[in-house]
Amino acid sequence: MNNETVEEKYCGRCNRKLKSEKSRETGFGPVCKKKHDLEKVTVVEEIGENLDKDGGTE
Ligand SMILES: [Zn+2]
Repeated sequence: MNNETVEEKYCGRCNRKLKSEKSRETGFGPVCKKKHDLEKVTVVEEIGENLDKDGGTE
């Protein structure tokens, strides 16, 4: 019995089929993962700046 069910997953960014196990884990292809991480870093930095501004009130 060939019961190897490979779940098809697609990149959350460009909707390409993810081939590697790692990509399926992250939900992004290697290139899109990098871009996604870069965007995450940018968002965190923006939040950090906002926290900095509010930090003086307490
Ligand atoms: Zn992609």
